[in-house]
Amino acid sequence: MTTLYASDSIDIAATVDSSAQVNSVVVQANSIYPMSVERKEKLVSYSQFRNVWRFVDFFISLGILLLILFTGLSAKLRTYSEKIPNKFFALWLFVILFLVLEYILALPFHIYRSFLVEGEFGFVNQTFMAWFSEDLLSLGLNMLFTIIPIFFIYKLIRKTKYWWLQFTLGAVPFIILMMVIAPIFISPLYNDFIDIENQELRAEIHALADKAGIEGADIFQVNTSKQSSKINAYVTGMFNAKRIVLTDNLINNFSTNEIKFVMGHEMGHYVQNHLWIGLFAAIIIIALSLWLTGLTIQRFIDKFKDRLKFDSLSDWASLPLLLVYLSVIMFLFNPITNSLSRYHEHQSDIYGMEVTDVSGEEAATAFDKLSAYNLANPEPHPFIVFWFYSHPSLQSRMDFVREYRNLHD
Ligand SMILES: [Zn+2]
Repeated sequence: MTTLYASDSIDIAATVDSSAQVNSVVVQANSIYPMSVERKEKLVSYSQFRNVWRFVDFFISLGILLLILFTGLSAKLRTYSEKIPNKFFALWLFVILFLVLEYILALPFHIYRSFLVEGEFGFVNQTFMAWFSEDLLSLGLNMLFTIIPIFFIYKLIRKTKYWWLQFTLGAVPFIILMMVIAPIFISPLYNDFIDIENQELRAEIHALADKAGIEGADIFQVNTSKQSSKINAYVTGMFNAKRIVLTDNLINNFSTNEIKFVMGHEMGHYVQNHLWIGLFAAIIIIALSLWLTGLTIQRFIDKFKDRLKFDSLSDWASLPLLLVYLSVIMFLFNPITNSLSRYHEHQSDIYGMEVTDVSGEEAATAFDKLSAYNLANPEPHPFIVFWFYSHPSLQSRMDFVREYRNLHD
């Protein structure tokens, strides 16, 4: 599959290099933007695949957890880990063994989805070994950090019936800490974050940040082209560690005005406190999910305890079952969390139009390019949007920005 991608990228490079001389039909056939007919077909098959995979992925991860539970493997790992006399380190060993087992069982599906299919559609920019070592790094970070919430949740489950509430309250500072730490210490393990290289663009963006009244936000360019050809931008961090991040793919393929609109959108998230509101919503969802889990999970354990080889939620061996409950409940909450997110995204689109002077057509082009470069379906089925989309459909965003100046100028 790497070969497939490599030949793809050579085609594109060749088109760009010799576009002046080569006849336009050839250029058209390989064109990413405006999209060639072939690319449009690719977009349709990619989005169909993704829609199917949203469900497949959900059921695969549930299946793996249930397999670990019903084969008694979880109980076996717990018994093995308990050989360590220190309780904290015994639990940590259990968590590590569980994560490794889950990782190995999911690996074939993960390679297929995240490396092979992405490669087939021309997104992967790295070798398998580079991809795999980054994946192992993520697994290692998981082993390092997940012990903290898991340690506290079992401590509380054994102590109080209000464990779900106490855990949620305790999770607030932990989540905030992770949000502050992750962009500074974790993201740079994967990519380089540098000042925006293009001086002119940099000046434009800082002027825009001043206009938006954003103080202390660092603006970075990140080399995600190392991993993927997809285009993105995001806001992250909290307090003085807040950052606006533009991918090099975005900077290299968008015009200054298109980038300004994207920046205006990202700044909108800050100015309107979307990170804090999102955090608050996440806390409510976590509390509700844990509460619902606590209400029902013991009945499940009682019913299947002979096969699970444990008989109480307070037993660490219940960890995979706790995860089954949480992923099912979170999946059911998807429409709620995503509709809040889509609302925020729309508010940020409005802000992006307000704070910049880009035309509706330029803003629409930014969305159109996102669709073309990322093979994102501009008009997905409304049900898919309702359940899975954290952003409004690109077509509705294009329609909105095109209309905006007519209505507000
Ligand atoms: Zn956004």
